[in-house]
Amino acid sequence: MAEIQLVDAHCHLDELERRGMPAEEAIAAASAAGVVQMVTSGDSPAENRRARELAEEHEGVFFTPGWHPSNGRAPSPAERRELRDLLDHPRSVALGEVGLDYHPRAQGPIWDPGEQRSLLRSMLELAAEAAKPVVIHQRDAGRDLLEVLDASPRVPTMLHCFSGGAEFAQDAVSRQLYCSFAGNLTFGSAAQLRAAVSVVPPGLLLLETDSPFLAPQPLRGRTCHPALVRLTASWLAAHLGVGLEAVAEWTSSTARALFQLPPP
Ligand SMILES: [Zn+2]
Repeated sequence: MAEIQLVDAHCHLDELERRGMPAEEAIAAASAAGVVQMVTSGDSPAENRRARELAEEHEGVFFTPGWHPSNGRAPSPAERRELRDLLDHPRSVALGEVGLDYHPRAQGPIWDPGEQRSLLRSMLELAAEAAKPVVIHQRDAGRDLLEVLDASPRVPTMLHCFSGGAEFAQDAVSRQLYCSFAGNLTFGSAAQLRAAVSVVPPGLLLLETDSPFLAPQPLRGRTCHPALVRLTASWLAAHLGVGLEAVAEWTSSTARALFQLPPP
């Protein structure tokens, strides 16, 4: 089989480290599976700094500093300045994760949706100011997300770990939003995602692991790492009735175009 080259458009190498898998090990496994580049995303100041270090230390690793809605508050002025500085780092390829999360939580009530939306608006302004794309986390908040995006400065936007059905995917595609699918696409229960992925054109379609979460079948429930994006790519190739090479080629070139990655 021809050698394939894949990109993992979204992972958390720092979280993987905390779960006992060193970045070196994850990167070596990825490269053995043909995963030549990966984007590791931060959700909080400490994670952003670790993501930056990992991108400085490893050639195929790029990073995105972010501020996850699960922080439950907006960044302070100093934290916002740090985000802005990280966006100017040569290995930083986008702002994110930022977004909206209205999913009920076991740990307590969700953060006020109005405050989440106002932070998202200000994060989109920050990305525009830095001329960087955004990586969006969205849970149970698709309509509000589109409303905020429609009313904000336009930057290239990736919906990470796409969730929703064909109709939401159409709404995303009509706005030229990039849709990135994670390993849950391969789950037997994911009829909605299967319908969604079928309406996303190759130029807007990316694959990610969201490592260490959401390991694709047949490894569901195990710790996910970037190499496993190959399983999701193989699944998608079979689903679409095309070769793995084709899926690898178009999802990688889409990721490179969005994040302006150098050739591997
Ligand atoms: Zn993530």
